[in-house]
Amino acid sequence: MTVSIRSFIKRRPGIVFIVSAPSGAGKTTLTRRVLDVHPDMCLSVSCTTRAPRSGETPGEDYHFVSERVFRRMLDANEFAEWAEVHGSLYGTPRRMLESRLRKGQDVLLDIDVQGARQIKQHFQGAVAIFVLPPSLDELRRRLAARGTDERRTIHQRWQRARHEIQEIEGYDYFIVNRDVEDAVARLAAIIAAEGVKVCRFIPKRKPG
Ligand code: 5GP
Repeated sequence: MTVSIRSFIKRRPGIVFIVSAPSGAGKTTLTRRVLDVHPDMCLSVSCTTRAPRSGETPGEDYHFVSERVFRRMLDANEFAEWAEVHGSLYGTPRRMLESRLRKGQDVLLDIDVQGARQIKQHFQGAVAIFVLPPSLDELRRRLAARGTDERRTIHQRWQRARHEIQEIEGYDYFIVNRDVEDAVARLAAIIAAEGVKVCRFIPKRKPG
């Protein structure tokens, strides 16, 4: 190594971490909690056409926009990826993502399997992590226990989960969310390990 240690460890560009999971797998808690372990990382705030739920803060949980605004942004190529999920549109603002990566900041995207596929295609070195519930029966129990959805919606979400789990092959890691503390520790460990891969510090060498 001909460069100084200081300049070597400074050189790495930011990493995109994708976390996907079927609804009810506990992903939101995980992505929020892992930021306590990795406070330098930032969580991307998506745009969505769905209505805010109680307790959600615009600009913090999502940028809530009308379908007209969303489609205009889409036409202007303002999304790094986008998808329709449960009848609403969701997208990751491109400018925010790219400027953070350029500054060397790691960004966590809480997005679905369709979005994950697009990001893996366009952002070299992106790391995709799939969060699984311990079983499909347990997932059904968790969806019902939330008490926020009707039986039909619960069944639809459960069916969708079964479908989404088929996409796990396109991911780099999986975490079974049996116990929150354990799952947070595993996610934090993946993020830490990916951040010190030597290939990420050497331009032109692809992360493997
Ligand atoms: P929720 O409406 O329950 O917050 O999210 C529903 C689903 O949409 C979740 O699976 C979440 O990961 C996904 N999602 C949230 N934001 C985005 C986004 O910007 N792009 C994509 N593709 N999916 C998203």
